[in-house]
Amino acid sequence: MNLETLPSFNILTTGKDGVQIASVSDRDWASFVNTIVEAGHKEWYTMDIARTLYNKTGKGYFPQGVTVGKLIVVREGAKSNLTLLAHEYGHALGHEHTHAANPDIMNPVDWMRHSDQHNLQDKFRKNFPDYTKTFISAQQNHLIVGTAIAGLGWLYFSS
Ligand SMILES: [Zn+2]
Repeated sequence: MNLETLPSFNILTTGKDGVQIASVSDRDWASFVNTIVEAGHKEWYTMDIARTLYNKTGKGYFPQGVTVGKLIVVREGAKSNLTLLAHEYGHALGHEHTHAANPDIMNPVDWMRHSDQHNLQDKFRKNFPDYTKTFISAQQNHLIVGTAIAGLGWLYFSS
């Protein structure tokens, strides 16, 4: 399935460096992810244990976005999630996922993304200034709390 052919595919913005952000409806996104899973695409989040965890806790494996080359596609409900967008932008800039215990933005699990070792949120803001302004004020408070927690988390993981 090609995301760009979905009826809900909608380009939200183009960054200064040409990277584009698009959204698809939550429903189209879910069927896209399920198609990947059925096609035997074995990312960690498609494993049985990850799905069981998600089904029991509502947290974890279900991805929110994908980056293919210079195109970031996120589900509609996540289009103002700066942590997610900075993560996907990190992929567009060539960053790979971190180790699962490293609480960085490039962690594959969204609720593990507490620190920002490559300043990706800042880079995202600078590349998409107008788009970021549409949601940033509500996010900033969240980020300050997240950064404080991240310091503790990093101590824990490195001890
Ligand atoms: Zn990723």
